[in-house]
Amino acid sequence: MTDLKSRLTDPTLLKSASFIDGGWVDSSDTFEVRNPADGSLVAKVADIGAGGAHRAVDAAARAFQTWKKTPVFERARIVRRWHELIVEHASDLGAIITAEMGKPYKEARGEVVYGAGFISWAAEEAMRLHGETLPTQAPGSRGWTIHQPVGVVACITPWNFPSAMISRKCGPALAAGCTVVVKPAPETPLSALALAELAKRAGFPAGVFNVINGKAEVLGPVMTGAPAVRMIGFTGSTEVGKLLMRQAADGIKRVSLELGGNAPFLVMDDADVELAADGVMASKFRAAGQTCVSANRIIAQDGVADALIKALKRRVEKLKVGSGFDERTNVGPLIHQEAVEHVSALVEDARTRGAKVLVGGQSLSAKMGGAFYAPTLIEAGEDQGLDMATSEIFGPVATVYRASDEAEMIRLANDTRHGLAAYLYTNDVGRVHRMSEALEFGMVGVNAPMVGSPSTPFGGMKESGIGREGGKWGVEEFTELKFVMLGGVDR
Ligand code: NAP
Repeated sequence: MTDLKSRLTDPTLLKSASFIDGGWVDSSDTFEVRNPADGSLVAKVADIGAGGAHRAVDAAARAFQTWKKTPVFERARIVRRWHELIVEHASDLGAIITAEMGKPYKEARGEVVYGAGFISWAAEEAMRLHGETLPTQAPGSRGWTIHQPVGVVACITPWNFPSAMISRKCGPALAAGCTVVVKPAPETPLSALALAELAKRAGFPAGVFNVINGKAEVLGPVMTGAPAVRMIGFTGSTEVGKLLMRQAADGIKRVSLELGGNAPFLVMDDADVELAADGVMASKFRAAGQTCVSANRIIAQDGVADALIKALKRRVEKLKVGSGFDERTNVGPLIHQEAVEHVSALVEDARTRGAKVLVGGQSLSAKMGGAFYAPTLIEAGEDQGLDMATSEIFGPVATVYRASDEAEMIRLANDTRHGLAAYLYTNDVGRVHRMSEALEFGMVGVNAPMVGSPSTPFGGMKESGIGREGGKWGVEEFTELKFVMLGGVDR
């Protein structure tokens, strides 16, 4: 813990207790957070168990009674203050991310600022959460709608964006008048606790924002089972999303699910190949390929495939692997050794099925003393039934498939149970419309490798989830739409 502490301008951001009802709750039961770049111990964090989870839910339920009635002007003021504090401390928060999950420090800092954008956007958006007056059928009546906060929201988040996945949910939820209980991933609790410290400084009343840590199988059932929790906001794998949805069904709780992806990256014959290659690099190698919107299948049209592979080879060979704290690093470690083994198995499967490994293709863990995999470029062979075409690679491996025409490319792109993000590189405006409409994905980046912004809807179709985060939609998710009917008006 000392090593990370010495990197921070504000070491008081480092917490190891849970944050419940406005105070820090410790426990003698702890779990370890380790830096995946070298296996060193970053911190020991308190496991507060089922009792702590119940306390947090109760505190959030009590606080909801006053927070929901707090004028939105005041709520938005505190939410905006939280945003300011996060941006002011972005460098420290970035260092915490790099220490606990490994991504390069510049990317980590960028994540903090990106995530904070959802908080400030939500503060403004909540100010405009107004209802409508509606025509009614019964004589002498009037009708109108109001948006009311859903209630206590349980937010369960993953390790790959330890800061942004919390801000993207909690900014809108808090601005809308909900109270929250956050359970971060056990690999990355420190980012969540630092956000709690800043929430405290921003002035949220006790119980409005809570962060709990412990075993998922203990905390999860409390969060999905407690009657006071009215909504589950989850980002993570499709498998866990399905489990939480089943658990939430008993209490008919609302669910917002941001799940796994299998993004196709389509490069058409008429595309700018250099631009497409830059796009693949940005989409594929950010966070060492561990993002839900990472290009999982690069599908190049025959006329451009060779040129694209050549352009990618040049770029992948130049990538520098290392600790996220080394300024020269483009690709940091994977989250842990099991992740390296998962990627290794996918690459071995591709090899046996005749794919050509053009760059990389091996674990670097033994050589580098951390959970590293070499940046890899693969050209798929005739047999396209690769395991990595149907499962998330979640590693720095770019695989190029070939296809002959537009129809074939759409068929391959949609041949997945997922539907989060897709990318399309073309200079034909007709194709832009035709193909973006045909792609069964919640977001399509056309000549653009990033699809997320605080002002726009982020979310998936099919098994990639339910609901949207960001923009006005992200705030509305956390509200109930109520209709009020007034009779006897025209007496
Ligand atoms: P994960 O294994 O599903 O875990 C996500 C979170 O759920 C963790 O906090 C985890 O805690 C918790 N969890 C697991 N089982 C639970 C249970 N039974 N009850 C309550 N909580 C439970 O996912 P991950 O490996 O951390 O993250 C990678 C996945 O997230 C990928 O599939 C990626 O595509 C997806 N993702 C999606 C988006 C999006 O916006 N759509 C964004 C980022 C990531 P434990 O680790 O303690 O089990």
